[in-house]
Amino acid sequence: MSDILNEVLGNLPKDSISDAAFEGANIVLYTKDKNFFLDNKGAIKKIVDDIKKRVELRPDPSITMDMEDAKAKIKKIIPEEAKLSNIIFDPQRSQVIIEAEKPGLAIGKQGSLLKEIRENTLWVPLIKRTPTIRSKLIESIRSVLYEHSDYRRKFLHKTGKRIYDGWIRGKKEGWVRVTYLGGARQVGRSCLFLQTAESRILLDCGIDVASEDQAYPHLEAPEFKIDELDAVIVSHAHVDHIGLVPYLFKYGYRGPVYCTAPTRDVMALLQLDLVKIQRSEGKEPIYTSEEIKEMVKHTITLDYGEVTDVTPDVRITLYNAGHILGSSLVHLHIGNGLHNMVYTGDFKYGRSELLNPAHTEFPRCETLLMESTYGGKENTLPPREECDRIFADIITKTLNRGGKVLLPVLGVGRAQEILLTVEQLIRNKVIDKVPVFIDGMVWDVTAIHTAYPEYLNNEVRKQIFHKNQNPFLSDIFKRVGSKKERQEVIENEGPCIILATSGMLVGGASVEYLKELGDNPNNSMLFTCYQGPGSLGRRIQNGEREIVFKNGQKQEILPLKMEVYTIEGYTGHSGRKQLMNFVQRCSPRPKKVIVNHGESSRCLMLASSIHKSFKIETVAPRNLEAIRIV
Ligand SMILES: [Zn+2]
Repeated sequence: MSDILNEVLGNLPKDSISDAAFEGANIVLYTKDKNFFLDNKGAIKKIVDDIKKRVELRPDPSITMDMEDAKAKIKKIIPEEAKLSNIIFDPQRSQVIIEAEKPGLAIGKQGSLLKEIRENTLWVPLIKRTPTIRSKLIESIRSVLYEHSDYRRKFLHKTGKRIYDGWIRGKKEGWVRVTYLGGARQVGRSCLFLQTAESRILLDCGIDVASEDQAYPHLEAPEFKIDELDAVIVSHAHVDHIGLVPYLFKYGYRGPVYCTAPTRDVMALLQLDLVKIQRSEGKEPIYTSEEIKEMVKHTITLDYGEVTDVTPDVRITLYNAGHILGSSLVHLHIGNGLHNMVYTGDFKYGRSELLNPAHTEFPRCETLLMESTYGGKENTLPPREECDRIFADIITKTLNRGGKVLLPVLGVGRAQEILLTVEQLIRNKVIDKVPVFIDGMVWDVTAIHTAYPEYLNNEVRKQIFHKNQNPFLSDIFKRVGSKKERQEVIENEGPCIILATSGMLVGGASVEYLKELGDNPNNSMLFTCYQGPGSLGRRIQNGEREIVFKNGQKQEILPLKMEVYTIEGYTGHSGRKQLMNFVQRCSPRPKKVIVNHGESSRCLMLASSIHKSFKIETVAPRNLEAIRIV
């Protein structure tokens, strides 16, 4: 048994513990003693204070109540208003997952109902929120986890052993090095390889969807060996950060993937969609749903602010990044105080309809690795109110002349931001009440948002929890679920607003709408998200007005007559000013800033401005370059 487990057992009454195991970095103890389970008289807290690790005491599976009886008991304890939807047992871990529409009511005042369940059933209850819009994906992710609970228990124990019995590479002098496998001086295929004397960690593993021949990160780089990989940390669920994660599992990776719970769910959804798109284009998908399932089985979710060891010498904490639901800044504490880094992923240091601004306070931070999507001097974003005014104006003019407004959106983040903006403009009677059609995946992603309101900003949370007014459930939103329904919208609907993916017009529903709506000057198209170089969206922004589409062997030319607009202020990225403000407010002030995730000129411009304004050492590396940090 591990030293740390022996130490823990040595500090507890003899024979009180029947089994001890790791669940990732957490320690779980099982007891056959009912009284000790219900009241351990502070013994566990004392251990937690001593060893500074999370320790949880659970009943031994042999003393838990029969599952059917426990189910009946739980149904009796939880009030009807909590709207119980599901009760699932995890007998391996003596846990019972209770899904309810109103988790607060299921938990009871100060956890009184949870306590009652523990006392009456000797199961450990966990309350989860039932999404208010039904999500098949969340249901299937939860069922994958429940079905494989035996495997999960072993996997989590193995992960803990790597953390606590570690130092497989021998304690040598401390050093830290980061190699850019992708996402340096570019937006797309983000992938950073972090090495320390002991650890091998990937930060993100994405795909550049706008590129055909350089879509994947450089996993062939000599320093990267998949069988040595200890952990993958995912900042947020956008394809350019997560697109290739299941591919690692295809090539044998079986270690942990760390991210927030909404990131896990949205990530799996996007990857499944990617497989579907590749199949529909007649390509062999680079991985299948089997590998996505494998990834889900190996995902360890963390809340914001939860500190977790991932290897013997790396400890991470995720913080709100303000970019999309569940997006995180990743704080890495390396080598027991040797060095601290923050990898921002994508972040917004500003208010949005959906999220709070990115976090800026860290226990320590010597090196900051930050994005620079809008890092150029010319990338100042207009104020939010001005965006709303222009947005409302374009919509009103289009609707008044009987046209439709097409909004190509990134399914995750921008779509929901725009939905909330439109809902508010309609509620405040700034624009007419017209149907807002939501095509395909955008709907599924929105459903996931309704499962995690605690990740949304204070305003939206207030609306949902206190006023019972969930803006996502407004009756203006109509789902478009099939090709037939899409055709209906195009042919039979009057003036309306349409949100469809992909955001850069690189395939998907938005392109189908464009083909049908593009030649009518009454219609408008409005870009609200970043358009990658080479994408159809960028070409149209640059003035291309004869669009060539391939239809089988034939080519079709669309003369683009609809009005085209761009509003950049809705982006989930920080504008130039917000990037600079973030560095200024970042506490403590970093000693070194590594600039990534931006077109070359923007990376260089931001690096130079930060250096000039704050006298901080900066660098804007290229792909395949490695930087020694310590
Ligand atoms: Zn992103």
